[in-house]
Amino acid sequence: MKIAVIGAGSAGLAALRHCASGTYEIICYEKTDQIGGTWVYREEIGLDRYGLPIHTSMYKNLRTNLPKEVMGYPDYLVPDSPDSYLTRTQILEFLNSYCDHFKLRQYIWLLHNVELVEPSKGGRKWTIKVRNLKENTIVTESFDAVMVCNGHYFEPSIPNLKGQETFQGQQLHSHDYRVPDIFTDKTVVVLGAGPSGMDLALEISGKAKRVILSHHLKDPIGTIFPENVVQKPDIKEVTKHDVVFEDGSKEPVDVLFYCTGYKYSFPFLSEQCGIRVDSNMVTPLWKHLVSIENPTLALVGLPFYVCAFSMFDLQVRFLLQYWSGKKDFPSKANMLKEEAEELENRKKEGLGKKHFHLMGFKQGHYYDDLANTAGITPLPPVLTKLHNESSTRFLDDLVHYRESRYKIIDDYNFIQL
Ligand code: FAD
Repeated sequence: MKIAVIGAGSAGLAALRHCASGTYEIICYEKTDQIGGTWVYREEIGLDRYGLPIHTSMYKNLRTNLPKEVMGYPDYLVPDSPDSYLTRTQILEFLNSYCDHFKLRQYIWLLHNVELVEPSKGGRKWTIKVRNLKENTIVTESFDAVMVCNGHYFEPSIPNLKGQETFQGQQLHSHDYRVPDIFTDKTVVVLGAGPSGMDLALEISGKAKRVILSHHLKDPIGTIFPENVVQKPDIKEVTKHDVVFEDGSKEPVDVLFYCTGYKYSFPFLSEQCGIRVDSNMVTPLWKHLVSIENPTLALVGLPFYVCAFSMFDLQVRFLLQYWSGKKDFPSKANMLKEEAEELENRKKEGLGKKHFHLMGFKQGHYYDDLANTAGITPLPPVLTKLHNESSTRFLDDLVHYRESRYKIIDDYNFIQL
């Protein structure tokens, strides 16, 4: 079986690690000049030297928002070190050491941008068109199966605000944010209180005059922010120099800083692949992973608020159970039914399509379901426990949560040091 892996970020590496230990022929196409995806920091924003949009959204001072104890792969842990919350550089080093340990570089074609994926031979094969960026030539290859590992933090989602076009200040999405100095002495509205919005409000508060965190959470966030950070509801309207909030208050503002998340995007999948993005729900997929239209196409890494690297590993092992023929996929009708039921259940919990791939506090159910369904080694429950502990601490004590240090003592328990 010949498998294509698109992208050499942490998901693509997990794909290679497991495909390489089987009897598969594999090629991984990576459009940038190095492995690591999101964890590669680049000062440039906009387009790269080949005219392609810069992929990474990494910022210079980023420290992980999860402890290293939950950031490894099941069979390759992040090495021990005094801190639990690491720098972006340490994570990139870790990914490079994973890549070397499993001798994965031989499969990776750097500076190869996948431009098109389409079914061929009546849906039994996949044709992939790839641009060799250095030589500016097109390579066409045929594959039996495709793992799409292109990430989902590169296509900014920016809300439409009344009066946005009249605003005379600066507007920036977190995708293009690198260093806090650009906000020195400015009044900045941070839109969105997800992990990025919270982390960046804290980071820029060291330079900005005033940070206004605008969000639509029902209650104010209970954490203690630095003194120059205040919370406001959503924006009602923007004028030349001011922002009016839903509570009627008005503030003079220098910067609108959109920490409003990202859109799932698969620009290279042809329409015949049958994958749609509907209100940020990627569909039709079995278990957030397998194309229901043609199960030899899989999108690895879609769920968010997860133990990412371990989940990628689990998803890939799941896929290979089916692609190797050890397991048979359910009928198309049953897969569609399962997807529809999950959407229905989420609606009952108040979660719409936009949150279809959110796992969060219930991520353990997803992991167990994958493992039980495919008959593969599950992820240790301690990962979910520690992820939940860290997420709770993040919300309770944004300023200090990274001082905590943890140690996993067995598959079920961790201790705080
Ligand atoms: P990516 O890392 O985005 O890799 C995708 C790869 O695909 C890239 O190398 C890209 O160049 C390549 N690619 C894309 N399109 C093509 C194409 N057409 N052809 C060829 N190659 C292509 N997670 C955590 O667990 N802890 C954290 O603390 C954390 N912090 C984060 C902070 C920020 C600012 C961001 C943006 C994300 C953070 N994440 C964090 C989530 C992080 O994205 C995941 O942990 C993980 O790295 C995603 O891996 P990936 O391989 O799915 O995607």
